[in-house]
Amino acid sequence: MADPARARQPLGIFGGTFDPVHFGHLRLAEEAADELALAGIRWIPAGQPALRAAPQTTARQRLAMVQLATAGNPCFAVDAAEVAAARPSYTVETLERLRSTDSCGAQRPLVLLLGADAFAGLPGWHRWQSLFDLAHLGIAHRPGHPLDLARLAPALAEQCRARRRDSRTALAESPAGCIVTFAMTQLAISASRIRALLTSGSSVRYLLPDEVIAYIRHHHLYPEC
Ligand code: ATP
Repeated sequence: MADPARARQPLGIFGGTFDPVHFGHLRLAEEAADELALAGIRWIPAGQPALRAAPQTTARQRLAMVQLATAGNPCFAVDAAEVAAARPSYTVETLERLRSTDSCGAQRPLVLLLGADAFAGLPGWHRWQSLFDLAHLGIAHRPGHPLDLARLAPALAEQCRARRRDSRTALAESPAGCIVTFAMTQLAISASRIRALLTSGSSVRYLLPDEVIAYIRHHHLYPEC
């Protein structure tokens, strides 16, 4: 039977294109669970990402890679709902969907996990200010993307000043609305670099799980130019 105390603990929500998923993503999720005392992490691969060029792989292939990468970690679950959707994925709508289901409901604290680069781009997101009504934000440091208020868009810097909390305990005290940062192990790994290595025929070993590399090879993803 599910532990009712655990079911009230904050839940991490980790969306991304994951084209492909790599150890930067996995360490972010693992360290967020520890640092922010999360009950678990729900990974949500985007179907059609709204704000970037079309991925080089299908949504189903990216979902399969995330499933392979996260299998075996009982704290991780994969949500395939966006992959099946025929329209662009907007995070605000994803969170509204989660809030309307029994698994999250209106009161459970949700923590949307973002790397510092994604956070800096937040003002370009659809209805971005509504995100704070739906979830807390957990921001991971990322090499090359310093979390510097002076470099953020003024409206985002203002939200940051108002909402930033130093302690993770704030996350458990309300369903949404706070911003916390955490200094995860710094890994200068990106999916775009992995794609570039694959298309040039270079090694990607130790940048992403072997199971994902095997899947990429089996399905001839990111072919060599
Ligand atoms: P790309 O290089 O194609 O832009 P990516 O490696 O940034 O991809 P995404 O799927 O776009 O991967 O990222 C999903 C989330 O993971 C984003 O919030 C991003 O900031 C974060 N992230 C990705 N890689 C890292 C990393 N090495 N360290 C910290 N955060 C990361």
